[in-house]
Amino acid sequence: MKKEALFVSFSGGRTSAYMCWWLLNNKADEYNFIFVFANTGQEHEKTLEFVNECDKRFGLNLVWIEAVVHHGERIGSTHKIVSFETASRKGEPFEEVIKKYGIPNQDYPHCNRELKLNPIFSYKRSLEFKSNHKMAVGIRVDEIDRIGPKAKEHGCIHPLIKQRPITKPEIVHWWTFQSFDLGISEEEGNCVTCWKKSIRKLMTIAKRTPEQFNFFRRMESQYSTAGAGNDPRVFFRGHNSVDDIFEEAKKPFKEFNEELPELQLRMLDPIDFSNGCSDSCEAA
Ligand code: SF4
Repeated sequence: MKKEALFVSFSGGRTSAYMCWWLLNNKADEYNFIFVFANTGQEHEKTLEFVNECDKRFGLNLVWIEAVVHHGERIGSTHKIVSFETASRKGEPFEEVIKKYGIPNQDYPHCNRELKLNPIFSYKRSLEFKSNHKMAVGIRVDEIDRIGPKAKEHGCIHPLIKQRPITKPEIVHWWTFQSFDLGISEEEGNCVTCWKKSIRKLMTIAKRTPEQFNFFRRMESQYSTAGAGNDPRVFFRGHNSVDDIFEEAKKPFKEFNEELPELQLRMLDPIDFSNGCSDSCEAA
């Protein structure tokens, strides 16, 4: 049987790492996999180390890509190939996206599109596949509300919903049997200070590792009026800036606790609200 090519979007988290492992171990007779990781330059170093470890141990032959932004042209980001060693660590691709499109936030949610989706589409086209060629995305059965409205149009499939339905506790349990792990807690995943995260998670990061906000603080100070419109923009929901998050974090509050499920947290306090697509950044 001729095998079909399947792109697999590895986001750098435990769920999508498990998906990569599961596909390799259960679907290798059906597909030729092309594993892709789109680096934004704002991931935690431990995320990059984890991605590299998964690549080596699972044998993913992972392709690391980053956005190439085209200033002054009406075209979306294309891609360049990087590696664990050469991947940006100081937000360089993110800064280029902000220079062109402005600060991303709930009203201008372009960072996922320009830092991940368009570079992945560009990479697919470079291999002579269509932009919407089939791509596996690591969304679990207990977070089905994260599937974006354009998932079908983008060719996304969800193996952890349809073929191997799995929940977060099962993923966490699976990782307890592995000889390596991500090494950071949930609130530090993806871009560490992602504006989609709940205010509680952001306040927790501000309190524990305030330096993680240095990049977003500089972006707000340098590029607040970049992009469409002239109104100054800030990153966080409720029109909160980095400084606002820090002010809130000075007051007494209960720090984020990974043990509490997100939904339960959301029901307790509005500061636990995160976007419907959870805190993640997926090609769906
Ligand atoms: S993780 Fe958040 S900040 Fe980073 S690209 Fe995705 S949506 Fe944007």
